Amino acid sequence: MTQTAYEPRTVPLPPDPRAHLTSPVTRSVLLVQNEITAAAREYLAGEGFVELLPPIIGPVTDPGARGAKQVDIDYYGHKYKLMTSAILYKQASLLAFDKIFYIAPNVRLEPLETASTARHLAEFHQIDVEVAHASREEILDVAQGLVSHIVRRVAAQRSAELSFLGRDPRAFQPLLDGPFGRMTHHQAAADLDALGHEQSPDAEIDWVAERLLSAQHERPFFITDYPKGSRGFYDKENPDRPGTLRNFDLIAPEGYGELCSGSERESDYRQIVARIRETGENPQKYGWYLDLVRAGIKSSAGFGIGLERLTRYVAGLEAVWQANAYPKLPGVVSP
Ligand code: AMP
Ligand code: MG
Repeated sequence: MTQTAYEPRTVPLPPDPRAHLTSPVTRSVLLVQNEITAAAREYLAGEGFVELLPPIIGPVTDPGARGAKQVDIDYYGHKYKLMTSAILYKQASLLAFDKIFYIAPNVRLEPLETASTARHLAEFHQIDVEVAHASREEILDVAQGLVSHIVRRVAAQRSAELSFLGRDPRAFQPLLDGPFGRMTHHQAAADLDALGHEQSPDAEIDWVAERLLSAQHERPFFITDYPKGSRGFYDKENPDRPGTLRNFDLIAPEGYGELCSGSERESDYRQIVARIRETGENPQKYGWYLDLVRAGIKSSAGFGIGLERLTRYVAGLEAVWQANAYPKLPGVVSP
């Protein structure tokens, strides 16, 4: 990534833990966040989802977190990892239930320069959803329904906190009034070119570009069909358009940027092994997962919403660390 991809900004830094935890701002933000998780559970339970408790460690974890380092732990003499995301377990869980979700902690040692992006933490959480036999269109509807429900409930129940935080609830009217926008990655690249920002149709959209697009919109929108190579091996490739994935990001409006990534998943053993090899990794690393896949897993689609990112957008916060009680900025020694 080029330096500008991260666009360092002057953002407020977390104060000491006592000042942070006793601040009326933090307390308002955490009440908004509490409403977000309650609303997520309410919506997903109503749609027939089973909440599972997420794993924290495992022999392997999601390799798709580009640029971030994984954390090793010693598990009785075996090298285990802290979860960067629970994607492999989400696919496995569908052996038990067809609709599952976690609210899961993730640890990613993000590059040092991301400490000043206002959108990266080294420890954060995802609302992590997976649905057996779902298509991408169906999972987009779940993501839209979930985010709309969350925003509607927070606006109704936490208007005092939003007002204290200076968040004008009128910002949510477009979101509540209509469906989220949808565009392909190809279209996003063309829009960026028209805005004077060079964007290859074959590459990931960097943060500066994403913010440009985000600032053009007044309600969240989906970008679909990212090019292969930009995402993990578990995002399904479109058989009719090789090189293109059946995946998506959900982008918040007003410049807040990415809230969520998701996809139809690859569930075919040979395809998964080929995709792992294409990324230069040794399939043997994924032993337990590949054993399951070989014996058969369900096709699925799912997504993960960054909880602190969603809180930042809903509460209108300057920086994502404000949405965490014990914020860990990349590289910053903190409790
Ligand atoms: P990813 O699978 O990398 O797209 O991560 C899923 C979601 O988690 C993203 O859409 C973000 O909302 C959130 N996320 C990813 N990395 C971070 C981070 N370092 N700090 C805070 N949120 C993150
Ligand atoms: Mg993403």
